[in-house]
Amino acid sequence: MPAIYIHVPFCRRRCAYCDFCSSVAAPETISAYADALIRNIRACAPLNLTAETVYFGGGTPSLVSAADMNKIMSAVRESFALPPSAEVSAEANPDSADYEKLAAWRDAGINRLSLGVQSCKDNELYRLGRLHNFSQAENAVKNARKAGFENISCDLMLGIPEQTPETALESVNRICDMGVCHVSAYMLKIEEGTPFDCDEIRSSLMSDDELSDMYLMAAEALEKRGLAQYEISNFSREGCQSRHNLTYWTLGEYLGFGPSAHSLFRGKRFFVPHDISGFINSEFQRIEIEDEHPDFLQEYVMLGLRLCKGIELDGLGEKAEKILPALEPLKRANLVKTGGGRLRLTRRGFLVSNGIIARLLEILEK
Ligand code: SF4
Repeated sequence: MPAIYIHVPFCRRRCAYCDFCSSVAAPETISAYADALIRNIRACAPLNLTAETVYFGGGTPSLVSAADMNKIMSAVRESFALPPSAEVSAEANPDSADYEKLAAWRDAGINRLSLGVQSCKDNELYRLGRLHNFSQAENAVKNARKAGFENISCDLMLGIPEQTPETALESVNRICDMGVCHVSAYMLKIEEGTPFDCDEIRSSLMSDDELSDMYLMAAEALEKRGLAQYEISNFSREGCQSRHNLTYWTLGEYLGFGPSAHSLFRGKRFFVPHDISGFINSEFQRIEIEDEHPDFLQEYVMLGLRLCKGIELDGLGEKAEKILPALEPLKRANLVKTGGGRLRLTRRGFLVSNGIIARLLEILEK
């Protein structure tokens, strides 16, 4: 039962910090892209698969017209069995999420919305190069509710130039005031080759310690507002965790459509090259093998430790014995916890997760 990921690699304008696969394009190009998606989705019909989740990510899926989104969703339904309980998510930006579009999306079967809000402070949004202000974000949430969306998530960015602990807390609270049931809180990372990859921006960023404190403060504030942490960056009300993303973190199968989309299917990892015009102009997407023999034990540790519930030590087989001594100092430093046969990172451990995971993998590989 694979999850379906559909990439929409278009944005109105590129944000200054972003290195995702997306570009600015005319509406005709986006429509031609939708047609290419439909061809590729239909090609999967003979596999007779059931999909429990579908996720439109980007880029900016809310740039796809209501009519094209409807056609894509029809192709998904014709090519995969979608149970009534399926989670169908789409990302949207506040400046392109008007009521008519959201109502049409709801009619097309999309039942979860992920809004790129990022901050409640317009100066911070401006610094990020976002095209919306916070009042547009509030309107987008209102429009989504009116259109029938109950499952709404907002992205929140931590570590924005000019952001302070006070403004970050204000963003947490104003996002929570909108009554959303899920928040993804990401720390700004400077990606190579983006406009943010320059001395002026680097020198305006807070220190790692300040950013760590901001993360801990935001996590606590989100939990106080009823959104429990379930993954390094994700918080939700009961029953509102992203089932699609949980598929990735628990090594479930998924099929990706569109340039730069990845798949894990029948034990192999695949990807589609980052070539938007090649995707539009070819009958079918070029699928390349990324890893013919993934090391699932390694991935189990890397992905599972992102989750608050962590991993089952039994899942490591006889190698579990090897890591137990290395866990003792980490436990004393309050970075990991064990119990009930599981190993998990604490919230402080999440802040240094890369180092901890690298150390555990090194031991497992010996
Ligand atoms: S809208 Fe999202 S995908 Fe597009 S440039 Fe901005 S951050 Fe990147």
